[in-house]
Amino acid sequence: MLRSSSPQNACTWRCDRCGRPIADGHGYIEFVDPEGGYPKWTLARDYGAEDADRLWEAKHALPSGGVTFRADDVPETPIRADVVAYHKRCDPHPDQDSYWFEVERARTARDVLDWIVHLTEKIWFGRREAKAFADKFLLGLSRADGGQ
Ligand SMILES: [Zn+2]
Repeated sequence: MLRSSSPQNACTWRCDRCGRPIADGHGYIEFVDPEGGYPKWTLARDYGAEDADRLWEAKHALPSGGVTFRADDVPETPIRADVVAYHKRCDPHPDQDSYWFEVERARTARDVLDWIVHLTEKIWFGRREAKAFADKFLLGLSRADGGQ
């Protein structure tokens, strides 16, 4: 019989590096830019984070001094994030900036729905990220072992 440290219908998050289950207090779920770090504007990838805001404002400034963007501009600014789960000890980039939270804060469907509602406020969180997060959660739901 498999050991279980999680209640039924709780997600067993597995480490994307070692493949083993992540127990409460031992790891986190992370949203990271595909090229590393916090999900960022395309401009930030091309020019560096320090210049991206200035370039964006220069390109989209209104004569009145405000800044705007149109729906037409959206395809030029794809902001994507990959979702990964790591044990603290396994994170290959422990010092890199990212959006993250502890695995114990995303064990149930209620938890994950709350996160998705919250994350839709982030400019980098779209349907691709929501699907990846939900898929990973659902995969974890089908497992019976707890791990550490
Ligand atoms: Zn690991």
